[in-house]
Amino acid sequence: MATTHSELYDAIVIGAGIQGCFTSYHFAKNKRKVLLLEQFFLPHSRGSSHGQSRIIRRAYPEDFYIKMMEECYQIWAQVEKESGTKLYRQTGFLVLGRKENAEFCAVQEALSKHSVEYKYLDSKELKTCFSNFRLPPDQVGIWELSGGVLYADKALKALQDLIRQLGGVIHDGEKVAEIKPGYPVTVTTTTRTYQAKSLVITAGPWTNQLLLPLGIQLPLQTLRVNVCYWKEKVPGSFGENFPCFYGSFSDLAPHHIYGLPAGEYPGMMKVAYHHGNKADPDERDCPSASSEVTDVQILCSFVREYLPGLQPQPAIMERCMYTNSPDENFILDRHPKHANIIIGAGFSGHGFKLSPVVGKVLYELSTESTLSYDLTAFQISRF
Ligand SMILES: Cc1cc2nc3c(=O)[nH]c(=O)nc-3n(C[C@H](O)[C@H](O)[C@H](O)COP(=O)(O)OP(=O)(O)OC[C@H]3O[C@@H](n4cnc5c(N)ncnc54)[C@H](O)[C@@H]3O)c2cc1C
Repeated sequence: MATTHSELYDAIVIGAGIQGCFTSYHFAKNKRKVLLLEQFFLPHSRGSSHGQSRIIRRAYPEDFYIKMMEECYQIWAQVEKESGTKLYRQTGFLVLGRKENAEFCAVQEALSKHSVEYKYLDSKELKTCFSNFRLPPDQVGIWELSGGVLYADKALKALQDLIRQLGGVIHDGEKVAEIKPGYPVTVTTTTRTYQAKSLVITAGPWTNQLLLPLGIQLPLQTLRVNVCYWKEKVPGSFGENFPCFYGSFSDLAPHHIYGLPAGEYPGMMKVAYHHGNKADPDERDCPSASSEVTDVQILCSFVREYLPGLQPQPAIMERCMYTNSPDENFILDRHPKHANIIIGAGFSGHGFKLSPVVGKVLYELSTESTLSYDLTAFQISRF
């Protein structure tokens, strides 16, 4: 039977992925008593935040993400300073597309509107600057200088250390089994029962499992994603001077393909498909999953056609989870019936870079502080 813990926390945060870590960091930084609960022992690789690298960029077609990214860069730098850990490597970010592609045009327009430093590259300039790509003549590019790589695992560790140093409490290996809404809200894990003034649910692909007993289900799709690493034919050719990129290659696939320069595995570039196969997070690595190779086939064709300097078969394949909302925008809102239960979900494969501000607004929603951002685009009621 779970023993009851007598302390009343300002907040309990469920899930020590990047969103739960940043939310807890903001609580601790603001001198609030916070308890971060994680079902697995840390570190783990079962959710969406593990691995060595994530892309950071300002290149978005939506104004609201570009505005948030301004502060995200500042908070990432602050966390680097406070933890004494390098978390960001500037590589530049390249958006590839056809000149007339609607999303490509929207990104260019939005970057201009927000005075973000970028350069438009016609197909000739693209060829000169990035000779590793073999692109069709109608491909053009947007070169965004501040883009780069975030060191994901290092970021999680740095934040967890900072949360503890600032007085926050982290309990890993404790799965939340029951939530009793009310004031205070009561949370029971596999070993103990805790109480808090508010609860933040940042449970990634497990979010709907926790919400079901609380009377709501969000329209979330959980996807298993294959993360592929491709060996350079000439050692060093995709390392130091190669950028992060994404692009739509509609002749090959309906979703984006993206890549990061060699980093975590020496001499291997990460190139992956921005989509996956439907899967329950607890069954991510079931044997049946291995037969779904469509995304890997798409990537093999892409690498063969567009990046001929890489071996056309992945050398390493890892797995990760996406939790997609129908419009691929986040859900940052209160539970419709229980105002002191806050939900951060649906990060749709692009939430890492934005987590500093996600954590901040989830903290603001929990403490009923003035909101730093207009959250209309992130409300549950839009579905
Ligand atoms: C392959 C891949 C590439 C990506 N690339 C990028 C990129 O380049 N740039 C970018 O910005 N974003 C990227 N993303 C997206 C980004 O990584 C995710 O949006 C982000 O990590 C989501 O974090 P999260 O905290 O919501 O989820 P998670 O990391 O899944 O964390 C949720 C946590 O909740 C815990 N939990 C769940 N249920 C319970 C419970 N009952 N009790 C206790 N704990 C519980 C889980 O164990 C887990 O640790 C990528 C994602 C993937 C998978």
